[in-house]
Amino acid sequence: MSVFHLKYRPQRIEDLDLESVAKLLKKMLGDKNMPQSFLFSGPKGAGKTSAARIVARAVNCLNPEGVEPCNECANCREILNNSSLDILEIDAASNRGIDDIRNLKENAYLLPTKLNKKVFIIDEVHMLTKEAFNALLKLIEEPPKQTIFILCTTDEGKIPETVLSRLVNIEFHKGGKEELNGSLKKIIEGEKIKIDKDSIELILSKSDGSFRNLQKTFNEIFLQFGQNIVLEDVQNFFIAKSGEYNEEEFENDLANKKGKIILMRLEKMAEKGVDFSAYRQRLLAYFQQKLLTCLGVGNLADRSKLNLVDLKRWFNLLIVAGKQEKDAFIDQLPLQLAVVEFLGDDNDKGGEGLQSRPKEEFVVDGLSIIKVEDVEQGWVKVLTAVKPFNHSVEAFLRSCRPKMVKGNTLVLEVFYPFHKDKLEEIKNKQIVESGLFKVFNVEMLLECVLGKIKKEPLVINNDTPIENVSGVAENTKKGDEDIYDVAKEIFG
Ligand SMILES: [Zn+2]
Repeated sequence: MSVFHLKYRPQRIEDLDLESVAKLLKKMLGDKNMPQSFLFSGPKGAGKTSAARIVARAVNCLNPEGVEPCNECANCREILNNSSLDILEIDAASNRGIDDIRNLKENAYLLPTKLNKKVFIIDEVHMLTKEAFNALLKLIEEPPKQTIFILCTTDEGKIPETVLSRLVNIEFHKGGKEELNGSLKKIIEGEKIKIDKDSIELILSKSDGSFRNLQKTFNEIFLQFGQNIVLEDVQNFFIAKSGEYNEEEFENDLANKKGKIILMRLEKMAEKGVDFSAYRQRLLAYFQQKLLTCLGVGNLADRSKLNLVDLKRWFNLLIVAGKQEKDAFIDQLPLQLAVVEFLGDDNDKGGEGLQSRPKEEFVVDGLSIIKVEDVEQGWVKVLTAVKPFNHSVEAFLRSCRPKMVKGNTLVLEVFYPFHKDKLEEIKNKQIVESGLFKVFNVEMLLECVLGKIKKEPLVINNDTPIENVSGVAENTKKGDEDIYDVAKEIFG
């Protein structure tokens, strides 16, 4: 999946989307008395961070072409790879205190490790505390010779006057029609997309002047319609989008555990006939971006409100929801199940949560709730579904017994601690859970409990289920062989 706003991020000053900014920067970088402290101010998605990174390369490039970075020399490459210790990007929203600025100060007085100049890019600088601003003030009044500070903000009004007066302000603004058009054209040409003029007009008009919005929206349209885009598709895309719950709102509600609100909004979308498959794909693209940012790729402005663990879990649930789409009688149900699964018992307790509804209600396949008897009956099929993915897991399962179904959790009775440990490994657990899904078409979680008394397995081999086995039994010869096989597979 290509991500346009990363792929088409400007790499040279003259590629910057805003002409006025490009002009100013060229002039300043060409000046022998180049200022050392800048303020890049302006709305989200206007290209501030991209411009700051270009400046970082321009002042360090070994083979500059005029004031432009070559993007090929060792210094440029190191910066492009995000591996230079001399380029520091700091997010003031999460490093806003006096100690953070003190650390930065100490660092600023050390010589660069490799490059000519250290460049400090401080994002969302208006978030700093008053004390932190004071500490920063002293630094930018008399900056160490080898340093450059680029402070970025979406809210210039919150920066103290004393600090502002020490900075050279470069104002970024919303993109005008021509500038937006130029930005889109690069992608259209780069991806060899066929699209008519009216579609382009419509897309531009919906961008709200943000280059990033524009690129993201176009990315979504491209993912949905491919290389041949016609006006009708674009119109439908925006109609669907307007009746919708936008991705950012969705994320906010998810982070705030507003389960009930999310489910209700999805219901409303269903009434309007929104295409849930397309919507889920948009959510996927949105959260993929968040995941990338979490992993250090991408823009700080894209920071997620979910932590990495939750983000990964949510991403997996979205993928599972996609697999359920085909068989779902109710279009919005797979996404709703994903939300319920994600929030679990962790809903907010302010009456917005789901806790008043028993979780079991959601474990439905059309109408019926899965019972342990159903699982027992389908056990052979589960083993068959699991086996191609992992033989040992299948062998472990063969010597276990389904004990009960609790909500959407299948409790499995396991007779050896070693089996329990293995089955509880995330990778193996997922194999079993997807096997259960395949057989019962219901998303179930696996939980293992250690049984005190060894029971005979439900199935000796995949062809002969054993009926009515219960109670205590000696270890069967077959059972011992299983364990031997398993040990052999794991320990070699
Ligand atoms: Zn270079």
